[in-house]
Amino acid sequence: LPAFPTAETRERRRISRQLDVGGVPVGGGAPVSVQSMTTTLTADVNATLQQIAQLTAAGCQIVRVAVPSQDDADALPAIAKKSQIPVIADIHFQPKYVFAAIDAGCAAVRVNPGNIKAFDDKVGEIARAAEDAGVPIRIGVNAGSLDKRLYEKYGKATAEALVESALWECSLFEEHGFRDIKISVKHHDPLVMVAAYRLLSEQCDYPLHLGVTEAGPLMQGTVKSAVAFGILLSEGIGDTIRVSLSAPPVEEVKVGISILESLGLRRRHLEIVSCPSCGRAQVDVYKLAERVQAAFDGFPNPLRVAVMGCVVNGPGEAREADIGVSSGNGKGQIFVHGEVVRTVPEAQIVEALVEEALALTEGS
Ligand code: SF4
Repeated sequence: LPAFPTAETRERRRISRQLDVGGVPVGGGAPVSVQSMTTTLTADVNATLQQIAQLTAAGCQIVRVAVPSQDDADALPAIAKKSQIPVIADIHFQPKYVFAAIDAGCAAVRVNPGNIKAFDDKVGEIARAAEDAGVPIRIGVNAGSLDKRLYEKYGKATAEALVESALWECSLFEEHGFRDIKISVKHHDPLVMVAAYRLLSEQCDYPLHLGVTEAGPLMQGTVKSAVAFGILLSEGIGDTIRVSLSAPPVEEVKVGISILESLGLRRRHLEIVSCPSCGRAQVDVYKLAERVQAAFDGFPNPLRVAVMGCVVNGPGEAREADIGVSSGNGKGQIFVHGEVVRTVPEAQIVEALVEEALALTEGS
């Protein structure tokens, strides 16, 4: 199996500085990491840690928690200590929570320039505290909360306005010699977002956190994020990603991982190659594909499993799959690397596939 990222994907990556976010390298050619954000009240330590555990199990590598109140800030030490993955504190408006997050052992802090007017005279102090603790800072610009000055200058949240806001905030930190920064310039429109990141990628060497903000419910948000991240990552732009969905955060992680796998930036663990079904199908392909997916969820080895609705095109079309099934007449032809190895009744298809998969991957 090839190493990931492959030499080809490595070559395409934009050169950036590298940050250490609680042990996860971001930028500088490190593998693109997947982030999400908790939806629990941060002050509810147990609920937040429980959700972080679910996210970790789903493959999330960095998690962000909102810190809108003192109660949330007070919960940070326990969360940072017990979380299995690095915790980033998300802070708007209140500089005092930045210091609390650094003291609490958070791996990084996210600040939003549009919401931190009070920050500007505190930047030196924040930079010193972050530097001493080895805590990177994300400058997270959002179209919805763009600095008023830039709204007036550009008329709306254009790509240029987002980038100017981010670089202005960076310059405040740079004046104090602080450069452990990553940047996001999020917009709900994937095309504006892509333009902003392209522009930003040329104007600095900071690692970039990709996100389409307020991307929408699962389906729409997935498509918007996949399109935008696909364009940028295939141009080598982007070092860590967060898919924003109006859906449970575990879904964000699954979608993020799937985007990286589809771009060849991460080895795909389980791929179901299933046909769309047609008038020739002799089995309910949708249901069978779902049952196969569920049966292989968490399978320890990388695997490509084909689920084909008929024997006419089955094994041929799915030749590149490791194992697969073509259905017909209440039976399933089970094939391994394109060769039919046995035929089983329809009710035993899933079981037979799992047996063949175990036999195939034994010892690997
Ligand atoms: Fe139709 Fe068979 Fe192709 Fe599935 S594999 S789309 S059932 S022809």
